[in-house]
Amino acid sequence: MEVVRLGKTNIFVKKLGWGGIPIQRATEEEAIKVIKEVVDMGVDLIDTARAYTNSEERIGRALQEVKKTVVLSSKSHVRSEKIYDDVLLSLKNLQVKKINIYHLHNVSSFNDYEKVMGPGGAYQGLKRAQEEGLIDHIGITSHNLSILERAIKEEKFAVIMVCYSFLEPAAAEKIFPLAKEKNLGILAMKPFSGGVIENAGAALRYVLATPDIVAIPGSETLAKARENWEIFRSKAPLNDEDRAYIDKLRKEFDRQFCRRCDYCQPCTQQINIQLMLGIKSVVKRFGSPEEVKWIKDVVEKARNCTECGECLPRCPYQLPIPELIKKNLAWLDSLKPKGIF
Ligand code: SF4
Ligand code: SF4
Repeated sequence: MEVVRLGKTNIFVKKLGWGGIPIQRATEEEAIKVIKEVVDMGVDLIDTARAYTNSEERIGRALQEVKKTVVLSSKSHVRSEKIYDDVLLSLKNLQVKKINIYHLHNVSSFNDYEKVMGPGGAYQGLKRAQEEGLIDHIGITSHNLSILERAIKEEKFAVIMVCYSFLEPAAAEKIFPLAKEKNLGILAMKPFSGGVIENAGAALRYVLATPDIVAIPGSETLAKARENWEIFRSKAPLNDEDRAYIDKLRKEFDRQFCRRCDYCQPCTQQINIQLMLGIKSVVKRFGSPEEVKWIKDVVEKARNCTECGECLPRCPYQLPIPELIKKNLAWLDSLKPKGIF
């Protein structure tokens, strides 16, 4: 099975890793079963985060019951050196003495980047954790390719994590060659574009065909975990059916699909545009706005869109943002009579 070297970390792992977002939705018992099975199948890199509620704890519990060791990657949104305390929490949750890769999670603007890299910023907290042997390598994750580009050029990180799928292929040109030149490990997140791509075969065959990256799709059921593994194990290349599906979806989502880069911000009404544009998959993943308060807050705020259009020229993908917000609000409202929302 294809193995990838994660740049200067000198960590060698299979090209298919596993991401710990979806198991938050599973029951405790099902989650533990999935994680154990994933490791038994041969996955040797697991990614999680402090932000994924019970994910770290579930992974920690499951790993106690399997004999194999895996490369662990986690992350935190804390922007000050207090991130060190989050590393301690991650170690406790994962029940390990050391985490192989620890990332600054979703650095979303240059202000944010300067904060984490500046005096008293999170990077210093991770350096301390590294010096004390609590983590091996420092990574950074972002949906914004320009931030990742800068981070790679500044050579402070060993690993980057970037969105990559056939709906979001830009990293292949803008990020991968640069990261390889600087000898960084590349973790490719969101191969299904946050649940938008439903054909796992086409999605994974596309990502797995790209050299030197490790894909980290998550799965909350055994069936999905096995399906993903089988796609990887079979080594089948993209076929004509996949290509037709990719073309169809690209056309369908042309000027509809939000890449979550936040270039459109700031919104004059403080609307979380990217969340509102991706609200269908968010509701599918986390439950209805009625059940999850932060989703409800995002939706209510989106109702204040004045259609001022200030965000429009800032979106490099020319998405008709106010129109899409309206469309998604109408979709949410249409759920109401069915008792879903
Ligand atoms: S058009 Fe709507 S989303 Fe865009 S900046 Fe104005 S209020 Fe915000
Ligand atoms: S609307 Fe455009 S600029 Fe804003 S997050 Fe989505 S893709 Fe990026």
